[in-house]
Amino acid sequence: MNELTQNIFCDNNKNLNFEINKSSDLIKEILFKSLNGIEISEDEGTSLFKAKNKDDINAIYLTAKHICRLVNKEKVTFVVNRNINFTNVCHMGCRFCNFAKRMKDKTSEWLDLDEIVYRSQEAWDRGASEVCIQGGLHPKMDGKYYFDIVKAIKSKLPDMHIHAFSPFEIWYGSSKTRMTYKSFLSELKKMGLGSIPGTAAEILDTEIRKKLTKNKLSAEKWVEIIKTAHSVGLPSSATIMYGHIDSPENWSSHISLLREIQKETGGFTELVPLSFVYEDSPLYTQNKHIVRKGPTEEEVNKMHAVSRIMLHGFIDNIQVSWPKLGSKRAQELLNMGVNDLGGTLMNESISRAAGAQNGQEITAREISDIIRDANLTPARRNTLYEIKEVYENHNPIDIPPLVERNGFDPLSFLNT
Ligand code: SF4
Repeated sequence: MNELTQNIFCDNNKNLNFEINKSSDLIKEILFKSLNGIEISEDEGTSLFKAKNKDDINAIYLTAKHICRLVNKEKVTFVVNRNINFTNVCHMGCRFCNFAKRMKDKTSEWLDLDEIVYRSQEAWDRGASEVCIQGGLHPKMDGKYYFDIVKAIKSKLPDMHIHAFSPFEIWYGSSKTRMTYKSFLSELKKMGLGSIPGTAAEILDTEIRKKLTKNKLSAEKWVEIIKTAHSVGLPSSATIMYGHIDSPENWSSHISLLREIQKETGGFTELVPLSFVYEDSPLYTQNKHIVRKGPTEEEVNKMHAVSRIMLHGFIDNIQVSWPKLGSKRAQELLNMGVNDLGGTLMNESISRAAGAQNGQEITAREISDIIRDANLTPARRNTLYEIKEVYENHNPIDIPPLVERNGFDPLSFLNT
């Protein structure tokens, strides 16, 4: 251990110092480095992901929690939003995806502009500040439909934030309209697009992507589109999908790459780790001998905690995806580096199509209850993480969920 990183963390947190000092020399050095504001390397990130010893793992979680509280204080944020998946028709054939349908399938869907605007209006009336819009790459779709969606919503709801179109959709719309990424994204921004989801990142590694997506959208193109979006003033989230054919080395390299992009553009609002939901996914069902059934509990914990540590000073928000993990696990992760519970969603179909068991909506009141039960303070934010209301001594208005739940109760674990 060199002098600089040798046990010099001193912010009067005796318990944290004590716990870190119980860990192995390598982990101790990395954690003290991070606590002292020094960027940890990709290899060091891999070492954190690979930690096996109980004391090492405990020290990693406590460090992530400490950094999270340092940056975000006791607040845990959420956004009131609605997911609108305007089509599930897609012929791209990504192997991890069980959301996509063929045009002729009975369950294929296409929402016209009236329906998209109707759903947006319904969301606005229920207090949403954001609609999150993504769809499959429908082979018959006109590339200008992306523009039409934004124009139609903005003409009715000028103050609604539109967070829409993954880099894969931007790639598709640009190719269909024969526009450059830059002019396509600039046009969308001019029409009122507010930000884009950084989905379709999966794992930014060429070999892994070849197996997951047939490399239709390469890692290089994903990076190029994200950087272009940031350059025209469209911020984005960042994601990682893990727990399939990937490894700790891939995770660390993916997070390091996101960190490099952030240094250059400053355009990422948050990182959202997305665990691979294996049930019924062709990637798993056709390759059971080599594909894992999603991440283990420990890997989920480490993904959120190590991301927090690696991104310290670069990306302040680590969001947990409750549709993938459920509300109980989401609450547990608030003590491992997570400061954001994402959106209320109102309708969520991608995770459920891939077999996730969780519901379509957790209302603002329920999200607040989950946060409060963890002795933290709920705060409603907008898409860009500006705080709109802090619920110190009051609660969000209690409105029933939009879609009937069929027995799903996100708060059931609070009473057990
Ligand atoms: S992940 Fe997206 S692009 Fe790939 S098949 Fe599914 S809907 Fe299509």
